[in-house]
Amino acid sequence: MPTQDELLDILVIGSGIGGLTAAALLQQQGFRTAVFEKNRFPGGSCSSFSRSGYTFDAGASVFYGFAEDGLSGTLNLHAKIFRKLGVSVPTVPDPVQIHYHLPGGFSLAACYDRTLFLDRLQEAFPHEREGILKFYAELEDVYDILSSLPAGSLEDIGHLLRVCGSFPLKTGALALKTFQSMGKRARRHISDPALLHFIDIEAYSWALQDAVSTPLVNAGICLADRHHGGINYPLGGSGAIAGGLVEGFERCGGEMRYGREVSEILVDNGSATGVRLSDGSLIRARAVVSNATIWDTFNHLVDDDRYRIPMDRFIEAPSWFQLYLGVDASVVPEGLNVHHVLVDDWSRFSDSGGTIYCSIPSLLDPSLAPSGRHSVHAFVTDRADDWAQWERGSDEYRARKDVRTRELLQRLESLMPGISRGCELTLSATPFTHQRYLNRHNGSYGPLLRPGQNILTKPQNATPVRNLYLTGDSTFPGQGVIAVTYSGVSCASFIAAKFRRPIQPLG
Ligand SMILES: Cc1cc2nc3c(=O)[nH]c(=O)nc-3n(C[C@H](O)[C@H](O)[C@H](O)COP(=O)(O)OP(=O)(O)OC[C@H]3O[C@@H](n4cnc5c(N)ncnc54)[C@H](O)[C@@H]3O)c2cc1C
Repeated sequence: MPTQDELLDILVIGSGIGGLTAAALLQQQGFRTAVFEKNRFPGGSCSSFSRSGYTFDAGASVFYGFAEDGLSGTLNLHAKIFRKLGVSVPTVPDPVQIHYHLPGGFSLAACYDRTLFLDRLQEAFPHEREGILKFYAELEDVYDILSSLPAGSLEDIGHLLRVCGSFPLKTGALALKTFQSMGKRARRHISDPALLHFIDIEAYSWALQDAVSTPLVNAGICLADRHHGGINYPLGGSGAIAGGLVEGFERCGGEMRYGREVSEILVDNGSATGVRLSDGSLIRARAVVSNATIWDTFNHLVDDDRYRIPMDRFIEAPSWFQLYLGVDASVVPEGLNVHHVLVDDWSRFSDSGGTIYCSIPSLLDPSLAPSGRHSVHAFVTDRADDWAQWERGSDEYRARKDVRTRELLQRLESLMPGISRGCELTLSATPFTHQRYLNRHNGSYGPLLRPGQNILTKPQNATPVRNLYLTGDSTFPGQGVIAVTYSGVSCASFIAAKFRRPIQPLG
């Protein structure tokens, strides 16, 4: 265990999937690495927790990247990393990425079978047959490119030269596509407003932005890979991904330090030298990796105004109001898919609370709920500001939570009739809960780019402070478990190359 007298090679702040991925790869490469996590469990937004016999996904439930296909370049990173670490994380195929329930009674399941998905969409919009095929073919082009290029750091000139040299046409094509927006490309092929709304919700459901604001490259991963590598659910819940990374990390000699909150990143002469923990102790390291958000890192942990992140540099994504429900199986209709997105009114889908997300992972893994029951996670966007007037834990705060809970349950009745009365266990979490558990500024989903900003302008892993690196959803390519895994890979690759112990591309 590191003490005040010891010097670590790498000190990672936070055990989100970005932090754990970077830590595991660096430790395996021979860097002496320790992860300091404020909670007593790993995974951050991708952790599980149990109550009264139910296991819930704290955040993420839809997972990419588990296909056992060694030829998939930047994709299938979970499978590649677990193979490299020698760890097994069993999964079950999740046949539908999202079942959409949209205004006007339009309902469509984005299923694994691409032909079936496109046939159903074309049946609903027969006058847009050609446009649908052309638009989704553009996403397929992005997929083809990304599945050829090895994952690595875009800041590592050696990596860039190798990739450009081996795949000159594909890297050139990808560079051009980074300037394109998903929604603008859709509008070149499609004009029906209802179909464009569908394209919007295809973006919003994971990017929290409409299609015009969403980079084509990100869409090319999420909306194409669901039909290739597919969606797979880790047995035991989302925490199994973090658990697998911790297992691999510790097996290589890495140290997890739970219940240890970093209160300050120590910067000496423009260079990070270690951290101060909330108990006052100091830990020194040759490099510090922060898995906290860019706002929490530079506006709280680094105590130097020169590095402040202006709040208008990014769009601040909203936070969430979440319900974790233990329900009687009788409220879950036969044949119900696992993941759902519900919109009642297109004029409000991107407003706070306008879109409902709901997952029932115990349909895939019955061990997540007692016999005859299901575990349900339902959530809507929400803002910390809208809760600021009530003191947390006060009667008014609790009353407000109860009102929001009843409203959300009522809106879920169309999906699971009887759910309002069928809950054996009801837990609710506000934006403050999210902020408090994960130290995320305002409990936000993270920084988003402004419409039209090139995806490559998202922060990379290096920062203005020497030897301080960022990983996680504040960095390229952005939010989502597979995205932060990429960020962890690129962070580890960049640091390892810098310290002249380069990591071989994942195979
Ligand atoms: C409700 C919800 C649903 C989602 N659904 C999906 C989905 O279905 N599919 C998908 O792919 N993605 C989904 N996501 C997004 C995905 O979960 C996140 O983008 C991703 O997990 C973020 O990972 P991260 O590495 O950035 O770190 P985080 O998850 O933010 O974890 C950071 C960790 O650092 C710790 N930490 C922070 N500051 C300190 C400090 N000072 N000292 C010590 N420890 C600290 C925190 O406690 C936390 O454990 C969802 C997110 C939410 C909130």
